[in-house]
Amino acid sequence: MNIPLKPTGIVVDLKQRLLQINWEDGAQSVFDFDTLRRACPCAECRPWVHDLVKTTMPREPSDAVKNARGELGTMQDIQPVGTYALHFNWADGHTYGIYDWKYLREISPAYSTQVT
Ligand SMILES: [Zn+2]
Repeated sequence: MNIPLKPTGIVVDLKQRLLQINWEDGAQSVFDFDTLRRACPCAECRPWVHDLVKTTMPREPSDAVKNARGELGTMQDIQPVGTYALHFNWADGHTYGIYDWKYLREISPAYSTQVT
């Protein structure tokens, strides 16, 4: 069984709009909020992922993604979902996406350990 890696720490910088995840294997992922927002895995942003017939990924992002604004008001806008995921209350009113650890690791802009 493939157990997804878990974070050992999460650091949020609301001002710089950055989210850093420290993984248990020592790697670090730094996401800017815009990237995170656009990567929202919900059915509105990524209908092709949830589509039962598995349509291919469209060239154009959905409107929900095009109009996306990666902003969070307060720390309360980032909430854990059980022990497996994070949920964001984005300032553009979009609150559907559940980002599990596996997905966050997949979309991580930098897998390798780095100092930022
Ligand atoms: Zn979404």
